[in-house]
Amino acid sequence: MFMGHYAPAVFDTQRGKGVVLVPVWVGFLAVQFMDIIFAFLVICGIEGDTRMIGGEPHFTIPYSHSLLTSLGWAAIGGLIFRRVFPKSGAKGFWVVFGLVFSHWVLDLIVHRPDLPLWPGSSIEFGLSVWNWPYLAFALEMGLLLAAFLYWVRVTTGPRSGLIGLAGLFLIMGALQFTFITAPGVQVQTGNFDPAAGPQGVALGLLMLVTYGLLATAIAWVERRRTPKVSPQI
Ligand SMILES: [Zn+2]
Repeated sequence: MFMGHYAPAVFDTQRGKGVVLVPVWVGFLAVQFMDIIFAFLVICGIEGDTRMIGGEPHFTIPYSHSLLTSLGWAAIGGLIFRRVFPKSGAKGFWVVFGLVFSHWVLDLIVHRPDLPLWPGSSIEFGLSVWNWPYLAFALEMGLLLAAFLYWVRVTTGPRSGLIGLAGLFLIMGALQFTFITAPGVQVQTGNFDPAAGPQGVALGLLMLVTYGLLATAIAWVERRRTPKVSPQI
């Protein structure tokens, strides 16, 4: 999954008490933490190979995306968050833990079976929705749209700020559309060609820059939105 990962980033940050436990820009980094690890491993030449099985691309992602190591990354993400935002307490740890691990759960839906149980395990998970690129596109953008609408509902801010959010949604949609449908790149079946897209260091850097820019963009939108306070029961 790519842009659909960002949907959970807006949840659990608004408590109806005017408190932001996990800022959405932090959520944007947390939900992609596993792919950020992947990008570093690609740059180091440890991950990033693509195996073709039955004409379908399967990624080699034993350390960044196995079920076991994902739980470890979630714990590390939660600990980093508590370090940087000490007031967030145990609740902050668990929210970030959940955000980081949501990456594995959402990848499970779209990946072909290439998410191992542990590094090197022959048991690999994946429900293969990427085999239907347009369904995958609708699913990911639908998740993201629902999340953004929810976030707008539970926060307040000037109307002009929504233009920025709508623009960001369109940019994310364009990136997703390219990722899903461009011939030769990434997740296409049949005409996938590892040489067609960026590889190695270029791929790792491209991912890090993309994730950094998206987190910066949502931080820019977020600074003009404050959580709505709901009446206490
Ligand atoms: Zn991933």
